[in-house]
Amino acid sequence: MGTTAVLAVQGAFIEHEQALARLGEKCVELRQAADLEQGFDRLVLPGGESTVQGKLLDELGMLETLRERILEGMPVLATCAGLILLAKRLDAHDDKRTPRLTTLDVTVQRNAYGRQLGSFHARGAVAGVGDDVPMTFIRAPYVVEAGEGAEVLAEVDGRIVAVRQGAQLALAFHPELDPDPRIHEAFLAL
Ligand code: GLN
Repeated sequence: MGTTAVLAVQGAFIEHEQALARLGEKCVELRQAADLEQGFDRLVLPGGESTVQGKLLDELGMLETLRERILEGMPVLATCAGLILLAKRLDAHDDKRTPRLTTLDVTVQRNAYGRQLGSFHARGAVAGVGDDVPMTFIRAPYVVEAGEGAEVLAEVDGRIVAVRQGAQLALAFHPELDPDPRIHEAFLAL
């Protein structure tokens, strides 16, 4: 087991730390640039509000270092807002000025299920992870299009909700909110 850095500027990061701790993984939190000096070999980008997280990553001076490390092949687990931070492209209607990491070859649409469907639960197969994986969606984005480099791992109602590109594993849903450990296990095996 190694050490996973969890982006902890905003959003649902504690649940990821708990899920990883249950698997014996050590976690450190990234709250400011100095935290990047801690040794870590993996990264979790949690759910939350991607515009807030992107601005903070930029203002706190963490964006470039994390982008470089992801491009060098550091494994990343990105959930919900994290998927938006990783996406190279946002849907036409979205705000494109907010800084993002843009390392994952996908087009993402934010808040894609509408207000009334803001939160829902599904179960489905995730390639490389298993069948009947619980999926909790909270004002979730979805992947409109996966580019050449990105492999589609799961769809719900014909919409792409999980992709992998190299060591980047990105999900529209929140695996840290369900007791099933398989997504975090797959992340630690990357
Ligand atoms: N709607 C949020 C956003 O656009 C994502 C929601 C989430 O992470 N649960 O950033």
